Amino acid sequence: MKINLNPNSHPASDADRTEKIAVGGFGKYYTDNMVIAEWTEADGWGDAELKAYGPLLIDPATSVLHYGQEIFEGLKAYSQPDGGVSLFRPEANAERFRKSATRLALPELPIADFVATVEALVRQDRAWVPKNIGESLYIRPFMFGSEVGLGVRPSNRATYLVITTPASAYFNPGKAVTVWISTEYVRAAPGGTGSAKTGGNYAGSLLAQKQAAAEGCDQVVWLDAIERKWVEEMGGMNLFFVKGSGASATVFTPKLTGTLLAGVTRDSILTVAQDLGYKVEEGAISTDQWHAGVTSGEITEVFACGTAAVITPVGAAKSAQGIWPTGDGNPGPITNQIRETLLGIQHGTIEDKHGWNKRVS
Ligand SMILES: *Cc1c(COP(=O)(O)O)cnc(C)c1O
Repeated sequence: MKINLNPNSHPASDADRTEKIAVGGFGKYYTDNMVIAEWTEADGWGDAELKAYGPLLIDPATSVLHYGQEIFEGLKAYSQPDGGVSLFRPEANAERFRKSATRLALPELPIADFVATVEALVRQDRAWVPKNIGESLYIRPFMFGSEVGLGVRPSNRATYLVITTPASAYFNPGKAVTVWISTEYVRAAPGGTGSAKTGGNYAGSLLAQKQAAAEGCDQVVWLDAIERKWVEEMGGMNLFFVKGSGASATVFTPKLTGTLLAGVTRDSILTVAQDLGYKVEEGAISTDQWHAGVTSGEITEVFACGTAAVITPVGAAKSAQGIWPTGDGNPGPITNQIRETLLGIQHGTIEDKHGWNKRVS
């Protein structure tokens, strides 16, 4: 895929950009440019164009607006100690984007094209990458069915875009969240789209998120669709449980059953935890086992992970059966150690043994 560079001729001034980066948050301001490319069934992928960030003109009958044929990714660029910028494991996101496309009957974007378009945009807008540890430039590649028409079938046209936004820590980093265990609603069922990163999974989750908020909770925990018993994920993040403490602790996460989203952060943490000398385990954990584990003290820490927030400690779980605090409710030492190690690798202050960082400038 050729990338035609036609960058914004009126980029934000230094003062404007600095102020927007300082505001931080998540998705409040977007950088000067974006990348866009079109695919058609007849001609395949056309050239990509890097151009000024701005609105799209969409026909009201565009298929995605009606049937939700859409996929997305989320990855980050981190500033490095020497002032450069690195992407964290972009090929892993590219591979997942390819799999999501297949599940949603969208065209596959070659891995090299995904990475090249992301790199081109980050290189162009590198001045927008925040400098502090824990801050980053969040990158959102996405694709949608852009055929105009109301027929229900895979779109014969697709639009791919990449946009970026400066991000401070998504949730307050040190603060533990309280989660609502949803037994009424499910996120994903066997044979469904749970392992694809598609907007529809999120659309179906919002009512449960509202219910969680009404219960005084920050996030929803999803259970399996069939028994409503096995713990799967938290909101848009994967979950981890620390069993035991100190050097003999085991770092446990629900295994990928096909209804969970395979997080790049989840995968990275399984490796980092092993590097730090912990045992790691992927398996099944029921809500009863969660409750019994935090009550007996066998489960000492619970945390969630994902690109946006990296690691969020879970201080307590709430369900129709009651509230179960994790330990004293504060972030645990292994949670903090894994978080600092991962952030250190991403920011280039801890050795990148696995070659995860991809330098772009
Ligand atoms: C994106 C996402 C995650 C986390 O994946 P990362 O690659 O670690 O960002 C977890 N669960 C869901 C449902 C997601 O959409």
